[in-house]
Amino acid sequence: MDQQLQQEGYFGEFGGSFVPPELQEVLSYLSEQFYKFRDDPEFKEELRYYLSEYVGRENPLTYAERLTKAWGGPKIYLKREDLNHTGAHKINNAIGQILLAKRMGAKRIIAETGAGQHGVATATACAMFNMECIIYMGAEDTRRQALNVFRMELLGATVVPVHKGQGRLKDAVDEALDDLVRNYKNTFYLLGSAVGPHPFPTMVKHFQAIISEESKRQIVEKEGRLPDAVVACTGGGSNAIGAFAHYIDEPSVRLIGVEPDQAPSLTQGVPSIIHGFKCLVLLDEEGQPKKTYSIAAGLDYPGIGPEHSHLKVSGRAEYATVTNEEVLEAFQELSRTEGIIPALESAHAVAYAKQLASTMSEDQIIIVNLSGRGDKDVEQVYQMLK
Ligand SMILES: *Cc1c(COP(=O)(O)O)cnc(C)c1O
Repeated sequence: MDQQLQQEGYFGEFGGSFVPPELQEVLSYLSEQFYKFRDDPEFKEELRYYLSEYVGRENPLTYAERLTKAWGGPKIYLKREDLNHTGAHKINNAIGQILLAKRMGAKRIIAETGAGQHGVATATACAMFNMECIIYMGAEDTRRQALNVFRMELLGATVVPVHKGQGRLKDAVDEALDDLVRNYKNTFYLLGSAVGPHPFPTMVKHFQAIISEESKRQIVEKEGRLPDAVVACTGGGSNAIGAFAHYIDEPSVRLIGVEPDQAPSLTQGVPSIIHGFKCLVLLDEEGQPKKTYSIAAGLDYPGIGPEHSHLKVSGRAEYATVTNEEVLEAFQELSRTEGIIPALESAHAVAYAKQLASTMSEDQIIIVNLSGRGDKDVEQVYQMLK
């Protein structure tokens, strides 16, 4: 086997930890604590309790009968992360990491947020566990997402606008890392996607793997067999890696990640180091991370988790892009046919599933991961369609 594959925190050539020594010390300690508690029976029981009683798991694997008929091909099943408390998969990870923070004796939780969705999930978990919560957010983003800032404040969090740099997500990440290095003794950095230096991608996957743990059991109960394909959207890659996790060792199951055609990290990225880890990154002519734009704020990131980078290069997973028009179409079609308004991010997966379905037969099965609900996007879609 490739030497690096055996090394902790590497997925093939991707992943690792490329950070200054003082931050490395903090991350190594975090890694040690994560591995220690991950398999601890009491920790597992507490996680199970909150996922059930607070998040509302397990959520259904819904057979989309009308959509299946409309598309005229394979059976379409929807994994309903949209039904979780706070309306998306992000809460799975926020609860998992906060339980770890509690075990580690942290009193303060810090996080960064771009559009505000991860900030809201973090502030929610902090309210319930009575933890101090500091959310760093680019000043520009606080203006564009004023309602999410208010949501976080309602939940008791302090939102710190970051004016440095361009006042965007990257600048907020830098501030949060600075804070962590200064305050690591009582502070836990709660990262929102399957990105960043080790152990974050491994840890986030661990907490999101519940998605495929459930869907695998559910599809076998309903259909007596595994699906032929699992489709999920990819921003940083956390809902997709969670939706894929328990199928990675099942070669009959196609795994397909879907990106916006305006932020195609996996379809067009090259190996590079970004935010302290190696992955496929979209670079501009000067070799800098490209400015991306997506109508779905949660998919607007020039990099992608290291494990997806490896799954792509090794050929185990496939990655595709869809256009804004296809996404808007899928957003409306799912609403009309199933009575489910999906998040714009999730609508990417639905849009690609439609193309895929046209190449498959009626005796086959696709699971689409519905990462979140669309309430947050209704006004934006209204403006775009008007
Ligand atoms: C944040 C978000 C995403 C993108 O993040 P991943 O880490 O790629 O999963 C996708 N869907 C929804 C609903 C989100 O809130």
